[in-house]
Amino acid sequence: VAAEWTAELFGLPAGVSCGFVTGATMANFTALAAARHAVLGRHGVDVDRVGLAGAPAVQVLAGAERHVSIDLALRYLGIGTDQLTLVEVDGQGAMRPDDLARHLRRLAGRPVIVCAQSGNVDTGAFDPLTAVCGHAREAGAWTHVDGAFGLWAAASPALAHHVAGLELADSWAVDAHKWLNVPYDNAMVFVRDSADHRAATGKSAPYLTDSGTAGGPGETAEGRAARENYHFVPEASRRARGFTVYAALRSLGASGIADLVDRNCAQARRLAGALAAEPTADILNEVVLNQVMVRFRDPAGQDDEARTQAVVARVQADGTAWAGTTRWRGLTALRVSVSGWRTTDADIDLTVEAIRRAATAP
Ligand SMILES: *Cc1c(COP(=O)(O)O)cnc(C)c1O
Repeated sequence: VAAEWTAELFGLPAGVSCGFVTGATMANFTALAAARHAVLGRHGVDVDRVGLAGAPAVQVLAGAERHVSIDLALRYLGIGTDQLTLVEVDGQGAMRPDDLARHLRRLAGRPVIVCAQSGNVDTGAFDPLTAVCGHAREAGAWTHVDGAFGLWAAASPALAHHVAGLELADSWAVDAHKWLNVPYDNAMVFVRDSADHRAATGKSAPYLTDSGTAGGPGETAEGRAARENYHFVPEASRRARGFTVYAALRSLGASGIADLVDRNCAQARRLAGALAAEPTADILNEVVLNQVMVRFRDPAGQDDEARTQAVVARVQADGTAWAGTTRWRGLTALRVSVSGWRTTDADIDLTVEAIRRAATAP
């Protein structure tokens, strides 16, 4: 039920399969295992039987600002990070579809996976999925969307345009323990064709009491009633992660989730707006979602790397709110990510005050 509700909330194609994994890292891994199976299958290689020996090298295209877990998955899957080509990104870190098309032409005839991203960890930027998926489809490539927190934009009528075209992809990763605020560890992986999903992670053994195999592992002739969750995740034994997702969806409803996402995004804009008015602070990104990057100036008004680091340390020591740092285009920035369900506008105002104190301290 939790899988069906989330798929519906995100507007994923009918019939997608879903697994509840530990985080978006493992969601990306599972989706890319399904992708590896599918793109090599189109080249006549059954990778899950023969392995990578004798298979053509799978080529992976991802934006230069992809999340590190994509590289990790390529290591785990034996594809290797040397097969990853970075596609140019715009000033906010979103993939440039024209550069993607150029690389796809260069790789024509080879097994290709495109990794798109919905929600850059620093800026919140979204890869343009309609164009990305369009180019990938035309080239016969698989498109995976890493939407760890950004996919939740789909739940908000005001923000859904950022993920327009997501239904054209082949697999999706999304965290539940980030924006849905359920306890760690919890995320979901969705795959368009459940046969690709189960080819990668389905399992059977005489001692495993499958409720039915008529439709393949995990499915009966009647459909999903006999779903066995272990067919859709790398693990066999694991806890019932779908339970807290069900509880959160059931209590919030679709409109409650849209409210949560909209509220946090409005709070990010509130914080950025207040800090932008400060002579000592600069907002580095377009605040399109819940992410804000802030850099600080010295008392003479000069952008200052050492001062930025000192301000972050003072904000953290102050204890009113917590935010870490990131490196953006070679510079340190305070990285704010507004995603707590209990965060109020008053909390944001207190946070702005705390940052102001830290930025103006001698
Ligand atoms: C957080 C994040 C991940 C990794 O997710 P975990 O839940 O920490 O495994 C992957 N991609 C993006 C875009 C993220 O924000």
